[in-house]
Amino acid sequence: MPGYRPGVEGPRSWVSALARGLSKRCPACGRGRLFAGYTRIAKACSECGLDFTGHRADDAPPYVTILVVGHVAIPLALAAKQAFDPPLGLQFAVLTPIMLVAAYLMLPISKGGLVGLQWANRMHGFGEEPAGGGAV
Ligand SMILES: [Zn+2]
Repeated sequence: MPGYRPGVEGPRSWVSALARGLSKRCPACGRGRLFAGYTRIAKACSECGLDFTGHRADDAPPYVTILVVGHVAIPLALAAKQAFDPPLGLQFAVLTPIMLVAAYLMLPISKGGLVGLQWANRMHGFGEEPAGGGAV
């Protein structure tokens, strides 16, 4: 059903849309996959047909990822420094892979959550107008 946009007229719960987006599922139905690749959003939901092409996540997912990973990793690094005072090379060898893996895992999750919030708030192509048909 190309062009079908469920939930256009009805209320949209930002809590369920966020939860569905964070789980990388369609924010409208929660069943279809939101992603067609690692961070590439699918063109439409495979279950309900919601058009995803109007999303505008842009640079927000990396910002959120850096914010969260940094706020977890830096206190851990400071706590480890206070408790054990490990050599700088050991800190680098342990924390760098942890931070890279955490950022790698979190980036699509944060992007899904942001796309879910955009849908719930009728932002960009998820509003009343068809995708790409809004005001400039
Ligand atoms: Zn769907």
